[in-house]
Amino acid sequence: MTDSTQQFTFKAETKQLLNILIHSLYKDREVFLRELLSNASDALNRLRFEMVTNRDVLDANAELKIQITADKDAGTLVIQDTGIGMTREEAIENLGTIAQSGARKFIEAAQTQNADISKVIGQFGVGFYSIFMVAESVRVTSRSFRKDAEAVGWFATGEDSYQVDRAEMSERGTRIEIKLKEDAAEFTEEYRLKNIIHKHSDYIGFPIYIGESQEAVNKQSSLWRTAKQEISAEQYKEFYRQTTLDFEDPLLHIHLSTDAPVQLYALLYIPSKAERGVFSLRKDDGLKLYTRNILIDEYNKDLLPEYLRFVQGVVDSEDLPLNVSRETVQASGLMPKLKKVLTNQVLRELENLAKQNMESYQIFWREFGAYLKQGIAANPAEAEALQPLLRFKTNLNPENWSSLADYAARMPAEQNEIYYIVGEDPKSILRSPHLDYFQSQGTEVLLLTEPMDAFMLMGLHKYKEYDLKNVAQAEVATPQTPQNQPEAEKIPDADFNALLERFRQVLGEKVTDVRASQRLYQSVARLADADANANPELQRVYKYLGKEYEIPKKILELNPAHPILKNLLRQADGSDLQSIVIEQIYENALLVEGLHPDPSSIAARVQQIIEAALK
Ligand code: ADP
Ligand code: MG
Repeated sequence: MTDSTQQFTFKAETKQLLNILIHSLYKDREVFLRELLSNASDALNRLRFEMVTNRDVLDANAELKIQITADKDAGTLVIQDTGIGMTREEAIENLGTIAQSGARKFIEAAQTQNADISKVIGQFGVGFYSIFMVAESVRVTSRSFRKDAEAVGWFATGEDSYQVDRAEMSERGTRIEIKLKEDAAEFTEEYRLKNIIHKHSDYIGFPIYIGESQEAVNKQSSLWRTAKQEISAEQYKEFYRQTTLDFEDPLLHIHLSTDAPVQLYALLYIPSKAERGVFSLRKDDGLKLYTRNILIDEYNKDLLPEYLRFVQGVVDSEDLPLNVSRETVQASGLMPKLKKVLTNQVLRELENLAKQNMESYQIFWREFGAYLKQGIAANPAEAEALQPLLRFKTNLNPENWSSLADYAARMPAEQNEIYYIVGEDPKSILRSPHLDYFQSQGTEVLLLTEPMDAFMLMGLHKYKEYDLKNVAQAEVATPQTPQNQPEAEKIPDADFNALLERFRQVLGEKVTDVRASQRLYQSVARLADADANANPELQRVYKYLGKEYEIPKKILELNPAHPILKNLLRQADGSDLQSIVIEQIYENALLVEGLHPDPSSIAARVQQIIEAALK
């Protein structure tokens, strides 16, 4: 140790990670090379980005490359890049603590599910420290692109501490010298190294040289710039895994290359899960944006509308001026064009998926349907483009998903509106009194039972020439007259009017009116919106948003032929039981609407009714 040598202790979780990496045997440990090459590539990318605005860097003319040198006899492996390099402070900061959040999660996983570590490590990688799967000791020497910075040395054996000292290095970049463990000698074999590079790192955008060879080992061109027919399904998946560390295969990849109206390459993926996995490399929504192969934004959110924020991948455009900062990218006016092309393409490919692979589309719909619904709510102008992607359960097809086109195709000729019902859950909604009339006619009604549905309806009023109508609305005109419906005997008008009056007295201000319904068959009562313009969807939205909200006043409609009402008439007028039953009928109607503010409050009254029934 010289005077400038400083000793540091690894943080507790880093020690843990090192411990796991050093003391277990993995058949997948070759991935350490993938991790180091990916770091080198990151460093080269960052340098290239720096040089867009700053030519005053060390070795401005040096080739951007990665050099691998192996020494079989010495058992060493050296990986050197001409990237951005590190200052002393940066080396301490970057190599002394775990940078990847994935690594942190890995420790947790490793502690709980021992058996699968080797799988997990192969899939996810743990960044720089994976080097200790194969290294007895590691020496990093680095020189920053900043001309005034000194070279730094960093040394560790995987024990508790590492040392930092001054080092000799005249050229820009980072050199990583690995003294391999005895059982890791295979990694000095050139064929083995080539093999690993082809498998994991072929599409790194900088040349990787091995030994004296002047010929790069890797393909270099990035995958998204490679012609589709040259890329295998497995390579598409591998690229997805590497950029996201998502454990599951994507549902769909979209590989696009266009010249008009803008030049762009894009490689986009639809994940198979909405939730980012715990190991995910992606810490935020957004696409990686490159101009001419230079990464200028890791999480760009302007390339797709918000409702497609689950889409992963890369966009690269030659049309973006090279001399741009992230801010001027926004201002360049190109972004809206890129966004339009990409959005159209994603929507089109999703439509195709729905046509070609129902099973995948159902997964998509389950995971991301709510995003599209939100999209319709937030961008009514774009609703039309999203409509073909919507799927619904209906009263006549409660098990299968139907599109609006399916629904329209099944409509009888005389029907010219699309009906829907909004409710709390798919089972109870089928018992809704609003459906009575439609069920009796065999008329199809869309069942909207998810929170996002209420929002969606704010932007979905029409499909083709058909208006969408809520069956809860008091005055929905329906095309047919009831058929096959035995005419149940109605309560005589005079009696029924007296009953209505009784309801009005008991319910008072809670309802705007009580009246006879023409469209109830099984149900005793329903609540209908008095005003055709009332917005039941909005009421629900408020409820979901937890906004202070009052039960909107509605009309209580009664079924003049219902046996309960007939029996109710037989009760002594003004009796307690009659009042209680009336209140209960009203609150039941609120319940099936999903609008009851305090459902448990019903219990006490129900008990009174039970007592009366048992007498
Ligand atoms: P990640 O790559 O996810 O940031 P790593 O553990 O792989 O995490 O690397 C830790 C950090 O060390 C990197 O973020 C980077 O700052 C630094 N680093 C690693 N390798 C290099 C390199 N070759 N050149 C410059 N910096 C590097
Ligand atoms: Mg890394």
